[in-house]
Amino acid sequence: MVSESDQEKGVSFSRRTLLKVGATAVTGLVLAPVLLLSPSARAAAKASKASVGYQDKPLGARNDYGKLGHVQDCSNCASFIPGPLAKKNGTCKVVAGSISPRGWCVLYTPVAVSRKG
Ligand code: SF4
Repeated sequence: MVSESDQEKGVSFSRRTLLKVGATAVTGLVLAPVLLLSPSARAAAKASKASVGYQDKPLGARNDYGKLGHVQDCSNCASFIPGPLAKKNGTCKVVAGSISPRGWCVLYTPVAVSRKG
């Protein structure tokens, strides 16, 4: 027998799963053209900033104290390649051009992914 709380967990899991599948699908659609290229062409071809919604500011939410809570930005993204100094622009494995450590785009992938979901 399934309790009401189990059903709620099931609904929550399903929504979470749908969000993960949706994010993966969007990432795949953006990267598919790049992955079809030869290795040398792939190294040179990266997504444009416009195609991935790049912005020079982080994505984050303000908490009850008016401070930024969990912030998503390039400095904590797995694809970011830091510049010579921490606050200077670097590059990105998948997006073309100079990338601010405080930037963000839809391909953001946290460096440490929680397995709790
Ligand atoms: S993939 Fe990551 S490092 Fe690259 S621009 Fe997007 S958020 Fe920044």
